[in-house]
Amino acid sequence: PNPDRLAVVTGANKGIGLETARQLASHGVTVILTARDEKRGTDAVESLHQVGFSNVVFHQLDVRDPASVASLAHFIQNQFGKLDILVNNAGASGVVVDVEGLKALNIDPESWLSGKATNIVQAVIRQDNEDAITCLDTNYYGVKRVTEALLPVLMRSTSGARIVNVSSLRSELKRMPNESIRNQLNDIDNLNEEKIEKLLDGFLEDLKNGTLEAGGWPMMLPSYSVSKTVLNAYTRVLAKRYPDMCINCVHPGYVKTDINWNTGVLATEEGAKGPVMLALLPNGGPSGCYFDQTTMAEY
Ligand code: NDP
Repeated sequence: PNPDRLAVVTGANKGIGLETARQLASHGVTVILTARDEKRGTDAVESLHQVGFSNVVFHQLDVRDPASVASLAHFIQNQFGKLDILVNNAGASGVVVDVEGLKALNIDPESWLSGKATNIVQAVIRQDNEDAITCLDTNYYGVKRVTEALLPVLMRSTSGARIVNVSSLRSELKRMPNESIRNQLNDIDNLNEEKIEKLLDGFLEDLKNGTLEAGGWPMMLPSYSVSKTVLNAYTRVLAKRYPDMCINCVHPGYVKTDINWNTGVLATEEGAKGPVMLALLPNGGPSGCYFDQTTMAEY
């Protein structure tokens, strides 16, 4: 098989990922819908087949598991020899909340959107070191792992490779209180993975020592916010390194899904619009940019 355009979507068994897969398939793109859980993933593929999208196939992918990532890369190389679109969508919140308690607190969309949803903090019942590691390893290292493994096939795209990193408004640099960290992450000419990861080590150290606030890290969902801020920085590093591709990151909107305990206000159909637009950018389109839904925005 040699489809015109072939896409991989990570974490696509539900939420924005599943809808992104559906919308890409509706544009005639062949989609490899991936999920870490085989059953959840094949059920999702089946749901798309049932509504007429036969151009969707399943492959297992746990972005935290190097063997799983290697197996996907091997599959694509063997079956297709190229890849056109990678949507890094899989994400973890980094916290465990009391869902019932959260509902009782009535999340106000305005306060969520302004990044000041203090009632989420009230409902957080755990955000230990392990949760932070899971979050960073999924939202940053996972994206890096998958992207590095798939770059060789992306480089063989003839239609122009696209990478879309699903970020969050919590990534925005203005939400990072520490000016030095902000400046380092904004200094794209001198930034690389090593520098990004040194910052992450510092974050984990401050988390362990209970010195996040003194370290100038964001106090609202700290691991999640930091993971998405460095994801944006990584997006810019990659875009600079691969000028022939369009590599962007996007806040999908405040979408009603499990990651925000279904407090979101947008339907997944809306939330997938930004990622899909960036996945289907024409040649010469923007690269190294951050979008708030479908609008280009400030990092
Ligand atoms: P969901 O919770 O519905 O989806 C998250 C997906 O990520 C699930 O499919 C989950 O799989 C998957 N996932 C988690 N860990 C891994 C892993 N190790 N390997 C592979 N897949 C994994 O939330 P959304 O659809 O909302 O989230 C999609 C993206 O959008 C995330 O990156 C999130 O940060 C981002 N986002 C969402 C916002 C919103 O308002 N909803 C706002 C801003 C950003 P499983 O089912 O197995 O857990």
